[in-house]
Amino acid sequence: MSAEHLPAAADTVIIGAGIVGTSAAYFLAAVHGRRDVVVLEQGPLFEVRGSTSHAPGLVFQTNPSRTVCRLAGWSVELYRSLEHEGDPCFYPVGSIEVALSPERHQELKRRLGFARAWGLAADLLTPAEVQRLVPILDAARIQSGYYVPSDGVAKGVRLLRALTARAQAGGAQFYPETLVTGIEKAGGRVRAVLTSRGRIAANNMLLCAGIWGPIIGRMAGVPVPMLPLQQFYARTSALPELAGAPSETEHPIVRNQDRAMYFRQHGESYGIGSYRHEPLPVMTEQLAPGQSALREFSDEHFRPALAAANELFPCFRAATLVERLNGIFAFTPDGQSLLGPSMYLEGLWLAEAFWVTHAGGAGRAIAEWMVNGAPSIDLHELDCNRFHSHTFSASYVRRRGIQQYREVYDIIHPSQQIEDPRGLRVSPFHRRQEELGAVFFESCGWERPHWYGANESIVAPDDTPPRDGWTARNWSPIIGTEHRAARERVAMFDLTPFTKLEVSGSGALRFLEGLAANRIDHPCGRITYTSLLNQHGGIECDLTITRQEDCRFLIVTGALAGMHDLAWIRRAAPRDGSVHISNLTSAWCAIGVWGPRARDLVQSVSEDDLSDAAFPYLTAREISIGYAPALALRISYVGELGWEIYAPTEYGLYVWDTLWRAGQRFGIAAAGGGAFDSLRLEKGYRLWGADIDPQHNPYEAGLGFAVRWNKGEFRGRAALERARQEGIRRKLCCLTLDDPCAVVMGKEPILRDGATLGYVTSAAYGYTIQRGIAYGYLPAEFAVEGTQLQVLFFNQRIPATVRSEPLFDPQNLRLRS
Ligand code: FAD
Repeated sequence: MSAEHLPAAADTVIIGAGIVGTSAAYFLAAVHGRRDVVVLEQGPLFEVRGSTSHAPGLVFQTNPSRTVCRLAGWSVELYRSLEHEGDPCFYPVGSIEVALSPERHQELKRRLGFARAWGLAADLLTPAEVQRLVPILDAARIQSGYYVPSDGVAKGVRLLRALTARAQAGGAQFYPETLVTGIEKAGGRVRAVLTSRGRIAANNMLLCAGIWGPIIGRMAGVPVPMLPLQQFYARTSALPELAGAPSETEHPIVRNQDRAMYFRQHGESYGIGSYRHEPLPVMTEQLAPGQSALREFSDEHFRPALAAANELFPCFRAATLVERLNGIFAFTPDGQSLLGPSMYLEGLWLAEAFWVTHAGGAGRAIAEWMVNGAPSIDLHELDCNRFHSHTFSASYVRRRGIQQYREVYDIIHPSQQIEDPRGLRVSPFHRRQEELGAVFFESCGWERPHWYGANESIVAPDDTPPRDGWTARNWSPIIGTEHRAARERVAMFDLTPFTKLEVSGSGALRFLEGLAANRIDHPCGRITYTSLLNQHGGIECDLTITRQEDCRFLIVTGALAGMHDLAWIRRAAPRDGSVHISNLTSAWCAIGVWGPRARDLVQSVSEDDLSDAAFPYLTAREISIGYAPALALRISYVGELGWEIYAPTEYGLYVWDTLWRAGQRFGIAAAGGGAFDSLRLEKGYRLWGADIDPQHNPYEAGLGFAVRWNKGEFRGRAALERARQEGIRRKLCCLTLDDPCAVVMGKEPILRDGATLGYVTSAAYGYTIQRGIAYGYLPAEFAVEGTQLQVLFFNQRIPATVRSEPLFDPQNLRLRS
């Protein structure tokens, strides 16, 4: 099994031999041939102390996230290929999610859309069809069932045995009964792992400790925001209806999300899993090292679940519960896992908060990343660096973790807002925004106006097509009015949450030139729009870089992408002291002033020359707004004349008031995120994380214009050159919906003759062009203007047409006026 003594050094130490750590060890050692992989486990192997040996192993692959669905698909592929002593590690019995309510029935149609968008075979079944597959289920209770034939049951312990054997055959060494007690670090990187059996010097450390992750994070000084929560699972006595059934499972696994429950067959009996109780968090302090992750079962908490189980499966009424289990697994504040290299400690990698469902895929992804320097798929949603500092507090982790547990099976609208905590980060204009009746949405802790109630008075009666139901939620016709204010007069947008990074030092220019696909070496005051590429030529960051001084640059990127981008840039930076990177987000507030009257407005409060000749497009200058110092960037994400105006935060309210007062005679409106999104999509501006991501290169994304081949070496150049020579097979396209009243929301499949060609990356209504807009990647042969397609929205085909883009002002006349 393992050598007596621990080795003195290893290239990679994996902490935790649960399903995540063991999968990662298998991929690193056996698939990629990495030498010197050591796995440390505090307990015995296989029947480990953690969650893997407690999980009944239901694998439902469908997920609103393309990435998470992909990881589940990779897991199924791996699990199906494994066996232990002749027994399979995976039973592909299929899955059914039942609808008890009309809302759930609609939601199942939406899930069918996710499946089609992500390439997962799935179907909607009638109650009778469901009953044919699960004869003990009461079909009279349900309205429909959502069926995925490739889902099934993963056998956790068998998987551990099979994967460990293969990892060991590849050279990985496993050390059970070895408790990690400390992390030694120096010079900002890991140096060694301290254990109950000695010290191992290590270059890389991969944290796969499941619910104990935050404890080891603390040892390393690295935030691992996860909340362990209790989860109940019980098994019925043998059911006469299943007499003679095989020892494992034949029925598809079942979810009754309307009652927050899941079910699987265990031979002649059934297993019942439940989220149908108050969340029961376990504080990290209560997880003593070396202890099992089991707690006492609570009949009181399980009682409502049992009643609901009996409702769907009447035969359970005559049964008793013969096995009861209370295990623990963890939720992060946003419900997604934590994956990748930590920006807080070089050499430390995380693979935490994964279910068995996704663990095989997670092991494959992290191994690719560690070996190749970048994963082969887009993993940004799981980036372990994505969280902002407020999310690391114990109270935040608890509050959000509990809510994630509650909502795990809820129907979540794409723009549903968190209710608590709110009001954590507000811009200096917040008071004014409240006075204007702002309806706020939350993003990275910031309160951001979605639209302003005060603008209701200027909504024209037939300004926008009406909406109802799903598309009307978190929406207002005021959005259209604010959109028009920006196109026709001038509008003010609060851009404070944008991430602002300063890169300075003698090596700053060389560093950024080597990182950016566009040329950065321009005279001071020039703004460059650029992609930062990964080794595969994929777009890792999409941002602007403004040269402020010879050796000082301002990077502006989105709020959501901010921490990811900061981590990426920090990891790439030289360690010789020639480059300094500071996050100035909190130091600067920002206002976007855009529209045909923007120059008139800003000029009226500034003595600086703002004419096109003195202050051309894509340049930046320090100016005054009234008495306040500001940095103005002549650039626009909405496609109109104007500036992003940055000011030290304490001047913010004064700057807002000055512009607002002066703006009255130009018909100014405050405008929110709803208008912003609609304006940017009409102009074809891509959003990183939706339209563009690490899996697509600039040519596929239509951003080839921002790549400079004559500038010398830059990261990702060779891969991009290869991709260009091979020819672009998929292209980001603009579609409009043929019915001028139709809208879609994003992530829907795009079809041609019933076959899925792609999915909607971003969608909005274009209030100027008066059509619903949807972007999506299409095979090159369909990326042709006029191609007739359909978008599948709640299982209805909405006709759409590929259009040449951008839809608004393709010559950029507005921007350059
Ligand atoms: P673990 O399996 O917990 O492994 C982590 C390992 O790290 C442990 O073995 C631990 O001993 C070791 N370790 C920790 N600290 C140290 C240290 N300091 N030194 C050395 N070793 C250390 N998922 C599904 O996909 N489908 C399901 O149906 C399902 N049902 C579930 C039902 C229940 C009741 C529970 C509790 C969980 C369920 N899950 C399910 C979730 C799933 O079990 C977990 O998310 C998954 O097993 C986590 O795997 P892991 O490898 O990250 O963690």
